[in-house]
Amino acid sequence: MKIVAIETLVCHARMRNWVFVKVVTDQDGLVGWGEATLEWHTRGITGAVEDLAQLLIGEDPTRVEFLWQMMWRQHFWHGQGVVRATAIAGIDLALWDIVGKVHGVPCHELWGGPVRDFIRLYCHLGGGNMDTFYNTPVDEARRFAELAEQAVAEGFTAFKAMAVPPTMPLEGLKPIMMAERCVSAMRNAVGEGIDIMVDCHARPSPAMGRQFAQALDPLGLYFLEEPCWPESLDGLAAIKQSVSTPIATGERLTHLAAFRDLFAAQACDVCQLDITHCGGFSEARRIAALAEAHRVALAPHNPQGPVSTAASLEFGFSQPSYLICESVHADVPWRADVVQESYQLDKTTRTVKRNRKPGLGVSINEAEVRKHPFQQEVLQRVFYQDGSVGDW
Ligand SMILES: [Mg+2]
Repeated sequence: MKIVAIETLVCHARMRNWVFVKVVTDQDGLVGWGEATLEWHTRGITGAVEDLAQLLIGEDPTRVEFLWQMMWRQHFWHGQGVVRATAIAGIDLALWDIVGKVHGVPCHELWGGPVRDFIRLYCHLGGGNMDTFYNTPVDEARRFAELAEQAVAEGFTAFKAMAVPPTMPLEGLKPIMMAERCVSAMRNAVGEGIDIMVDCHARPSPAMGRQFAQALDPLGLYFLEEPCWPESLDGLAAIKQSVSTPIATGERLTHLAAFRDLFAAQACDVCQLDITHCGGFSEARRIAALAEAHRVALAPHNPQGPVSTAASLEFGFSQPSYLICESVHADVPWRADVVQESYQLDKTTRTVKRNRKPGLGVSINEAEVRKHPFQQEVLQRVFYQDGSVGDW
């Protein structure tokens, strides 16, 4: 069996252009699907996949690790840059999809079979609607509470909110109190039985992150995400040591050695590796083994498209330390038209039973994808009050 083509299909989904990767074989009808979505770098990704394709055309698609090593190590540059790591991931996912189809089993059965009966989903406030999640003002605590109630009414037992505003390296009490009021309002609205996560989006400095973490600590968050830049391992570790709230991070790391440094610094309790940015299943499985050695739990980052979700679920059914699947269901109304998924979703509990179809169990409707061609993603930029550049 040989790879004869590697194609990208771009599907504009408002905040993101989903980039689907299709690996075509010389076997009649046998293709693999992956996803290499990288918001605001869509042109770079499609070019990076094209650059990697020249290494793989004519090769046996079932030699996944051999091909992964070529993609990572050849052409001189290693594959840790986010564009290339994402392109590698998209192709790697498609190769594993092919291997599953060759053997007639879902991906998770290739790795030892299911380790659990179901996976719990969590949502973004507003279901992934960009404006609701990112642009609800943190001085509107009541609105946060309403959105939290809506998530619970939709069956979710866990949700994530952006309740921490952008801040300069140091600011006074006001943003801390606004965040505290938002989370208090959500906790009062949904009670103790619902898990609340807060994403700081790596906006705070370590000094501000520590203050946010301590203010929110009594409110029993399931986890506090990216309380400072991922480059500040010491800052993350200091924040983690100052609170009992579990600290989550990892969505911006792209390779095994970066996670080695994160775990060695004892800087997180929850590893949010992004399977579509850190080299696909092949590298994610190595990162998961390393996390297991440090007793760090897994909650992969997954706000992208439907192939990324299928990949997170296949991974989750094979990984003992996997906690919960991030899910987006209201980003675009035609999400289900573009892809047919094979996992079983119970909307009353927002839990998922495993896919029984080969590979990732997804099929992409290419005609539907073509209805949503590339458009520039909506720019998201932050400037502080004095005009200096901030983190979105
Ligand atoms: Mg995040």
